[in-house]
Amino acid sequence: MGDATQDTSTTSGGSGIDSSGRIAAVAEVARRLLPEAGVITDRARLRTYECDGLAHYRVTPALVVIPQDAEQLAALVRACAEHAVPFVARGSGTGLSGGALPHAEGVLVVTSQMRTIREVRREDQRAVVEPGVINLDVTKAATPVGYYYAPDPSSQQICSIGGNVAENSGGAHCLKYGFTTNHVLGADFVTPDGDTVTLGGAAPDSPGYDLLGAVVGSEGTLGIVTSATVRLVRLPEEVRTILVGFSSTDQAGAATSAIIAAGIVPAAIEMMDALAIEAAEAAVHCNYPDGAGAVLVIELDGAAIEVEQEYAEVQRLCDDHGAFEQRLATDPAERALIWKGRKSAFAAVGRISPDYIVQDGVIPRTALPEVLTAIAELSGSSGVRVANVFHAGDGNLHPLVLFDDEIEGAGEAAERVSGAILDLCIEHGGSITGEHGVGMDKSKYMPRMYTDEDLDTMQLVRCAFDPQNISNPGKVFPTPRLCGEVPGRHKGAHPLQEAGLAEVF
Ligand SMILES: Cc1cc2nc3c(=O)[nH]c(=O)nc-3n(C[C@H](O)[C@H](O)[C@H](O)COP(=O)(O)OP(=O)(O)OC[C@H]3O[C@@H](n4cnc5c(N)ncnc54)[C@H](O)[C@@H]3O)c2cc1C
Repeated sequence: MGDATQDTSTTSGGSGIDSSGRIAAVAEVARRLLPEAGVITDRARLRTYECDGLAHYRVTPALVVIPQDAEQLAALVRACAEHAVPFVARGSGTGLSGGALPHAEGVLVVTSQMRTIREVRREDQRAVVEPGVINLDVTKAATPVGYYYAPDPSSQQICSIGGNVAENSGGAHCLKYGFTTNHVLGADFVTPDGDTVTLGGAAPDSPGYDLLGAVVGSEGTLGIVTSATVRLVRLPEEVRTILVGFSSTDQAGAATSAIIAAGIVPAAIEMMDALAIEAAEAAVHCNYPDGAGAVLVIELDGAAIEVEQEYAEVQRLCDDHGAFEQRLATDPAERALIWKGRKSAFAAVGRISPDYIVQDGVIPRTALPEVLTAIAELSGSSGVRVANVFHAGDGNLHPLVLFDDEIEGAGEAAERVSGAILDLCIEHGGSITGEHGVGMDKSKYMPRMYTDEDLDTMQLVRCAFDPQNISNPGKVFPTPRLCGEVPGRHKGAHPLQEAGLAEVF
């Protein structure tokens, strides 16, 4: 089990009552507001919520509340604020960084009863949805009018739009269409003191600071989204899905770069290496090319005439870079099987290893061959197997670090390899997370990317929204700071001041 040591730096609330008394006060408010099933205090039932998709961190919350609408949710947050009780928002709990890990002395606010799609507006290509709405359901609602919701995490059949907004989630088709942040136009949002504010909106831009931009990707640390206005994208006239077999990841990586360099932006380019293919075959019999060291799943979409031209060019570039087999899906069933292999890859490694870590890092696409070679060397020298599945088009790696927890020291060795992979990402100009977020799991890696001053500055933003530090405390930042603290070290005069080149007014 991971170290889920919790940040206890919330204020005492000034009420003089202990944590269980304060929780009881919030539970009383919840009982007044919600039906019986919406307030969970029974220890056994609370344990159902003790983790998200990263199950090696587990904390039982003190209270779970399941509001049915935004007003109830805001009132519950107000009660938390009044009693200085920490709260954590939870959508579907599929997060892979421990972001929705509960607080032991806090309230878990679950949005699973807020699943109404309020509007699908074809005329201005928007949908307005509640936070618990499942990602794929937005597309299902928009398809009859010729549209879909483009960001498609592999978890799209279960993850919620609120979770997607909080994590700025990506997916296979984000290469061409952009991440969640490019598709959220507005949000209703409950601040940590329980006020409801509207950020962004139907107009393309609003003056002033981009607070919606700050909220997208803030991992529940700034408050809770209660409604999102999202952009819908026109269904393409033509879609072609191609499965391409290569002998090595080097060849597949070079083909990826060549396709983009040729000015083609496919809807998706996904890569899987030999170990990931082996796992997917064992799990879903996806019939990928025999003996492949790597496969690319390339999807082209758009106007039929454009897709036709791009397809010819992609075929040629893959051949030039050593493809030994190219297979175009000829019907929806074949297309679905190709994607099934890719989308089931995380769970599939369970077929070839009892335990595994899903790592998530991002690098500039051009660094792919170098980083993949370095990962293979790390794996060879440590004896820890690593399967690679990733969004090759945008350099978002998902190394799956395999181990057997029954073997003494194997978990620690896997953790070391997993951390070393993040170091490789940073060394190559990348980042410690491409799409899964920092959450609880990666907060310890933040200082590898940022200085203390950087982190303090980010926390000034958090403090502006949440001076009591009650909204998902202990996540994202390695060292929580209280909001009254002066950020950073006290530095002497700036070198430019000392040189007489600048003054501070
Ligand atoms: C098999 C599998 C495949 C995955 N593939 C992808 C992928 O391709 N791309 C990708 O990006 N991710 C992927 N993920 C990770 C995960 O599905 C996403 O991060 C997703 O957005 C989480 O949504 P959720 O509803 O489950 O959120 P949760 O796990 O419940 O919460 C995630 C975070 O969001 C916060 N949060 C939840 N709801 C709200 C709200 N209404 N307001 C404010 N904060 C909120 C929580 O506090 C937490 O910090 C995958 C996960 C799995 C298990």
